Amino acid sequence: MLPHFELSQPKSLSEVFGSLAAGKGRPFAGGTILVPDLRGGSETSRRFISLAQIDALRYIKHEETGTTMGSGTTIADILKDQGMVSAAPALVAASDIFAGAMVRTAATVGGNICCGSPSADTVPSLLTLGAAVTLCSEKETRKVPLNEFFLGYKKLILRPDELLTAISWRPLQPGSAHLFYKLARRKGDAITVTGVSVMIAVSGNICSEVRIALGSVAPTVFRADQAEDLLRGQILTSELIEKAAKAAADQCRPIDDNRASAAYRLQTAEALVRRLLTQAWQKASTT
Ligand SMILES: Cc1cc2nc3c(=O)[nH]c(=O)nc-3n(C[C@H](O)[C@H](O)[C@H](O)COP(=O)(O)OP(=O)(O)OC[C@H]3O[C@@H](n4cnc5c(N)ncnc54)[C@H](O)[C@@H]3O)c2cc1C
Repeated sequence: MLPHFELSQPKSLSEVFGSLAAGKGRPFAGGTILVPDLRGGSETSRRFISLAQIDALRYIKHEETGTTMGSGTTIADILKDQGMVSAAPALVAASDIFAGAMVRTAATVGGNICCGSPSADTVPSLLTLGAAVTLCSEKETRKVPLNEFFLGYKKLILRPDELLTAISWRPLQPGSAHLFYKLARRKGDAITVTGVSVMIAVSGNICSEVRIALGSVAPTVFRADQAEDLLRGQILTSELIEKAAKAAADQCRPIDDNRASAAYRLQTAEALVRRLLTQAWQKASTT
């Protein structure tokens, strides 16, 4: 049963910041995590601040210098935005396989990032874009690389008086590929068993930039920086890709749960990194 809880309905961002500073509750965006958690008993807070009426958080802006997306952007908004196809192809792929249509209409990117779950599906592709998050309170605004936002399982650098307001990233370079693959027990409405995103930029026949991120195989979504270091500045042969896939798997810290064993997650993480690196290298080399 859904317990009784208070939901304040501010009409402006400054009101939200004021309420957060006064400790009047936690942000409530789409509620697609908070409501099931309240019902299931794992959410113990009883005071929330709704972001539903804050239109200033719901936008996608593409500029020459990059893309900025308000934290209240829903997964359905991403899929409707034509500019995202070139600005963040892997984010579109992740959104396309995210839950079912009903959840996608309510679920926000801000909620997906701030739930801090290792299986949050937008996070791997945002990490491989090199995205940054803007965190605002009544007193301060700070921009932090998304890579530094997660401290541990559901532990964030976000302070209780702060709101994640925006996510931004620079344009993908010409000659780059940006891919995402979600392995789950079925196609729709399933929590990710292993999620991998890869971004490769090719310049003059070498890999000029590479980012690899993995979800559901460690306490947080993370960048496989040791694998990236092996590849940057190199021609990607199948032997080198094999080495990088093993290095990425070495950085995983998977657990056994009711969806998959740790051993299966490890094996699929290595296989998916190998597959996505191979595909991204081929794609980026021919564009
Ligand atoms: C049936 C079902 C299927 C699902 N499938 C998927 C899936 O395929 N992939 C996936 O990744 N997730 C999935 N989810 C989980 C969920 O839908 C997503 O994580 C969603 O993006 C959460 O966003 P929300 O706006 O609903 O967050 P909420 O539930 O409103 O909030 C989640 C957390 O984030 C905090 N928060 C929200 N916005 C902000 C902000 N701007 N600043 C600071 N803190 C904030 C809240 O306080 C809360 O702690 C599924 C959920 C359900 C119920």
